[in-house]
Amino acid sequence: MAKKQFKAESKRLLDLMINSIYTNREIFLREVISNASDAIDKLCYASLTDDKIGLNRDDFRIDVTVDKEKRQITVSDNGIGMTAQEMEQNLGVIAKSGTFQFRNENGDAAEKELDVIGQFGVGFYSAFMVSSKVTVISRAYGSEEASVWESSGADGYTVKPGTRDTWGTDVIMTLKEDTDEVSYSEYLDNNTLSSIIKKYSDYIRWPIYMDVTRSRYVETDEVKEDGTKKKEWQDYTENEVVNSRVPIWQRPKNEVSDDDCKAFYKEHFYDFEDPAAVIRVSAEGTVSYKAMLFVPTAAPANYYSKDYQAGLQLYSAGVMIMEHCDALLPDYFRFVRGVVESPDLSLNISREMLQHDRQLKVIANSIEKKIRNELLKLIENDRETYNKFYKAFGLQFKYAMLNAYGSNREQLQDLLMFRSAEKDSFITLKDYTDAMPEEQKMIYYAAGETVASLAELPQTERIRSKGYDILFLTDDVDEFLMNMLGTYAEKKFCSVNSDDLGLETEEEKKHAEETEAENKELLIFVKEALEGKLADCVISRKLVSGAVCLTTKGGVSLEMERYFASLPEAVSGGQTIKAERVLELNPDHEVFAALKKAFDEDREKAADYARLLYGQAELAAGVPLEDTAEFNRLMCRLMK
Ligand code: ADP
Repeated sequence: MAKKQFKAESKRLLDLMINSIYTNREIFLREVISNASDAIDKLCYASLTDDKIGLNRDDFRIDVTVDKEKRQITVSDNGIGMTAQEMEQNLGVIAKSGTFQFRNENGDAAEKELDVIGQFGVGFYSAFMVSSKVTVISRAYGSEEASVWESSGADGYTVKPGTRDTWGTDVIMTLKEDTDEVSYSEYLDNNTLSSIIKKYSDYIRWPIYMDVTRSRYVETDEVKEDGTKKKEWQDYTENEVVNSRVPIWQRPKNEVSDDDCKAFYKEHFYDFEDPAAVIRVSAEGTVSYKAMLFVPTAAPANYYSKDYQAGLQLYSAGVMIMEHCDALLPDYFRFVRGVVESPDLSLNISREMLQHDRQLKVIANSIEKKIRNELLKLIENDRETYNKFYKAFGLQFKYAMLNAYGSNREQLQDLLMFRSAEKDSFITLKDYTDAMPEEQKMIYYAAGETVASLAELPQTERIRSKGYDILFLTDDVDEFLMNMLGTYAEKKFCSVNSDDLGLETEEEKKHAEETEAENKELLIFVKEALEGKLADCVISRKLVSGAVCLTTKGGVSLEMERYFASLPEAVSGGQTIKAERVLELNPDHEVFAALKKAFDEDREKAADYARLLYGQAELAAGVPLEDTAEFNRLMCRLMK
């Protein structure tokens, strides 16, 4: 029979597995046993919802057997099994379920890949780390026929008809010959195998049976001088359950270490980084439930695509009834992974019914609070981890608030972070208001493309000279968010471009008004010289050492203008939304004096100056020069 070829990525992974220099080979057993357990879960679930199947939960089991002569380890289950076609589909390609996303781009970085392999759930293929041949005999539940899949590695596989007494699957792994470096034979030792099972698969809910060899001190037929029988140590073998079967989330908190939880997370949810936080809940009351939840540190590769399935695994009475129960999580916490188990839920429940299930709602509310509290705790106690987490997931809090028109602000506003001008790090709104000097009335922010450009904004100088911090906003949504929030802790948000920064004394105000009145003609002249580019030209109350700055009036800021311009035409409908630009002049700057002088003596020169100053203001604001050629021409003319 002709061999079929593995799919390309599978072949690559397989190559790596076969030639693995990866030392943690023993995980192959965990992977194969997990598959067996999943297969039983599937059948068990089907039998709970379909009376016709009518299987007894106690009959489900996994068996691990060893044949030393043939150098074979067999993992058998009486789960759902596979048809020949399913074998093709499932074993010919890498984890169809998307549990393993192989990173092709890592081309030659073999070391790196191996590391990735070691950390991920690598599935069925890991059997090839220890086996020279893998044979899978499977009979799907409800089918009379069995099939045999077999492969000796990367050169392909065969599928042919076979026999199996009952439904289920046997995975027969023929171990490689020992080499100088590696003893594969050690896996033929029952005690080694049972300790590997204990290490990785202890919480598998189905019993894993194995022959375990022990010694006992027993009487022999030989009689000693004193008439008693001689005793000696004898080995005996018993087929027993080697895993303790209680799922990790059901175990008392003090029995499960942090490391256990992290290991469970990585293995179960296919992450190779430790979670940022582990949340354990054991709730009794109107609804009882247990949960083990994880806040990831980094977003999975598919997180921002349609492929990502949010939701928690929902168990009832020891059976997984839903793999991605999204009704348990608000959308803005969709990054949370984990398991929830409640004895109070009906197993026969459909997806639609779950959405409306009252008990589920109670659990969801309670979970939401726990997650929020845990995140707040991280902010308080482990800022570094929170920062990392926030980098990966923070943006969605902002979108979630905007999308809900702020109705969820109480839940989310304290989780937001912004860049602080003073601290040069990310801070929360609470950090900001806690550090505000008593006389500071508002929360200042500046929006722009990069922190570096914001740090140079001339209009921030006055605020900073007072010792007030400024939030630097660099996400597109930020300004919209600030507009929507309006206040935090009863303090108003105030853009550094706002015409009233609330910093002036009455006297300063009066002085500025007078200066403005005195220079009215000049200001009108500048505005006109700029031929429609400006909505206004004013005497600035924000500048200290800078000569000019560009601000806006009305609801649209320069940042918003940039954002709208970046939208594809299909969204914007070809409409351009423009900010109303205001040129602010520093009356105390010598440039202003020069402008004034030119205005009195040489209007043409004054008009040139006005255009140059506008160009300067554009540059300082981080917006592209509207007319680069003219700016250059003016510069040259000035220097001549
Ligand atoms: P996964 O991460 O999806 O488990 P694997 O490579 O380990 O990836 O397995 C691929 C697929 O093969 C599984 O998703 C399952 O459909 C099927 N499979 C593997 N082992 C068994 C088994 N013992 N019984 C039934 N199906 C199995």
